[in-house]
Amino acid sequence: MHRRVADMVYQAIQDTCLMRDIEAPEKRGQTQQGNPRRVITCRPCMKVLCDAGAKVAINGAVTHTFANPAGLMYEIMCVHYAEGCRVDSVPSVVFTWFKGCNWAVLQCAGCHVHLGWRFRGAMSFDGLITQRIMERTLDE
Ligand SMILES: [Zn+2]
Repeated sequence: MHRRVADMVYQAIQDTCLMRDIEAPEKRGQTQQGNPRRVITCRPCMKVLCDAGAKVAINGAVTHTFANPAGLMYEIMCVHYAEGCRVDSVPSVVFTWFKGCNWAVLQCAGCHVHLGWRFRGAMSFDGLITQRIMERTLDE
């Protein structure tokens, strides 16, 4: 009786190990150096948008607060490139927040929520709406 329980526990441990083995390294939250990977994710669906190290200061600051023509306020965080987003509009220069840059709407490639804007032109970066993203360590 005790033997069978021990066997079952052993089997469960083996199954757990097998499941871990088939996970991709990035899903274990480890880089090749073994350090936890810090990432920026979509807040609603947790899709990884880019590495936390992709943050970039634009005009001297990583975060900026703007109002759109309708008066809605947005705080955005600037990153080099958010690969987990997709463009959802044609580029426009109308009411641009950054001189010399056009903008296009960015949405999450996972859940399609509006996450910010892609700016191209004099500077090239993505602006992500801080309330709709979060920074975390994978497998935290
Ligand atoms: Zn999402």
